[in-house]
Amino acid sequence: MSVDVLIVGGGLAGSLAAWRIAALHPSVSLLLLESGDTLGGNHTWSFHDTDITPAQRAWLQPLVTAQWPRHEVRFPAYARVLDGGYATVTSERLHAVIAPALGARLRLATPVQAVDRDGATLGDGTQITARLVLDARGGGPEHVPVGWQSFLGQEVRLQAPHGLQWPILMDATVEQRGGYRFIYVLPFTADTLLIEDTYYIDGPAIDAHECRAAIAGYARDRGWSIAEVVREEAGALPIPLGGTLDDFRALSPALAIGVRAGLFQPTTGYSLPEAVATASLIAEGHLNEVPGVYARMHAYVTARWQAGAFNRLLNRWLFRAARPTERRIIFEQFYRRAEPTIARFYAGRLTWPDRLRLLTGRPPVPVTRALAHLRS
Ligand SMILES: Cc1cc2nc3c(=O)[nH]c(=O)nc-3n(C[C@H](O)[C@H](O)[C@H](O)COP(=O)(O)OP(=O)(O)OC[C@H]3O[C@@H](n4cnc5c(N)ncnc54)[C@H](O)[C@@H]3O)c2cc1C
Repeated sequence: MSVDVLIVGGGLAGSLAAWRIAALHPSVSLLLLESGDTLGGNHTWSFHDTDITPAQRAWLQPLVTAQWPRHEVRFPAYARVLDGGYATVTSERLHAVIAPALGARLRLATPVQAVDRDGATLGDGTQITARLVLDARGGGPEHVPVGWQSFLGQEVRLQAPHGLQWPILMDATVEQRGGYRFIYVLPFTADTLLIEDTYYIDGPAIDAHECRAAIAGYARDRGWSIAEVVREEAGALPIPLGGTLDDFRALSPALAIGVRAGLFQPTTGYSLPEAVATASLIAEGHLNEVPGVYARMHAYVTARWQAGAFNRLLNRWLFRAARPTERRIIFEQFYRRAEPTIARFYAGRLTWPDRLRLLTGRPPVPVTRALAHLRS
């Protein structure tokens, strides 16, 4: 079998790229292969309004399941409501919208054994050739030094309305354990919430039982009585402290996209904005000329990797220079900055004045200790 465009991996990046290509190039023959039974796995993907452009938001909007005009953070020293909008895409909605849009161009429950620049070999030995192969299988290099953002979240239905109007992105007033710990709360409807117990820690493992107990305790302390746990999700996102782009490039002979290409915000591990930008970049240009697609992506990935250098330095500050107990102070100071700086930080688009602003002020870590750890 032969197609124009083959995409391996129907997670976030692969699904968005396939959907956008199908919408803008209906005459291109396309195939998306996913090993799971549904697209997108089991995730709640959130993003700030300022992470993506208005044009990108317009095409993404059918996948958005909840959106809020502002959000807040809570620390022991202060709480702050920020004016930036926040929104959520769920795996369930992604599958419900994109699977029918792709129709026969999607094959689920199809594990791919090998991927190369000209095609892929399926688990049963079938060969598929393609002019353009996008490798969206997720994962990342194993030898790059990392810290972790690990979390377990539960979507819960309450017996009565919770009264929250917008998300709490970090409630860091909770007991600190193992590193920087906070609770993340998304109010989906008047009586449903996603409550996530989150840790910036040195290793990926968290205790699921402890997280569930912490979520129940957090709800109880706020007077929220849980009627039902609707679903649960967990993740351990690597937060790179160094590495090179070649570490990611070595992962695939084809054109990698998604986290496999290093396309994620280095301090949060979040990748939705990059997956959206990549889908736009690939689908909104010519697809016939494959070297041109490679050149566009190469330039984009290189620019994003270079923009991430400052974040990787901050990550070393967070995970190496700071002691685990000092990590909360770094976030507490960060959230005192001007809103546009905070927004550009999440979007991965910090200006040089932003970078200076983030490095000035009372350092939470003694300068001598910091300097000893900041080189990669
Ligand atoms: C629980 C959770 C919540 C997250 N929340 C957010 C968030 O709020 N905002 C945000 O921006 N980011 C979030 N992230 C981080 C990041 O955006 C996700 O990890 C995102 O799904 C990565 O997208 P991806 O397409 O690169 O990889 P994935 O979504 O992991 O997709 C890879 C896909 O490839 C498939 N695959 C792998 N190998 C094969 C094979 N051999 N053959 C066929 N298929 C294969 C997998 O089954 C999978 O579906 C979250 C991550 C997790 C785990």
